[in-house]
Amino acid sequence: MGRKKKKKKRKDKIRERIKRRKMLEKEKQEKKDVRFRCLECGIEEDIPRSVVKQFDILDNGDISVPPRFDCEVCGGLMEPIEYTSVHGITYKIDEK
Ligand SMILES: [Zn+2]
Repeated sequence: MGRKKKKKKRKDKIRERIKRRKMLEKEKQEKKDVRFRCLECGIEEDIPRSVVKQFDILDNGDISVPPRFDCEVCGGLMEPIEYTSVHGITYKIDEK
């Protein structure tokens, strides 16, 4: 009896570890920054994905345009170099 209990406990521990690892991986993915580039001056800035997502959700006007930020340097528009929105649309800046 005692032995069986021990075994069960260990299994639970492993399961817990796997669960935790999966959660961490998901968190990592969420924490990945989205690189934005200013269309005016070309400066690049990393913005946390969670923040971009927030913008994406709030800005439910035209989904054909990516979430945009104002450039702190020149006040121009910053767009994500590559970003897949909550609507499943991938935006990409055309490299010329
Ligand atoms: Zn700029």
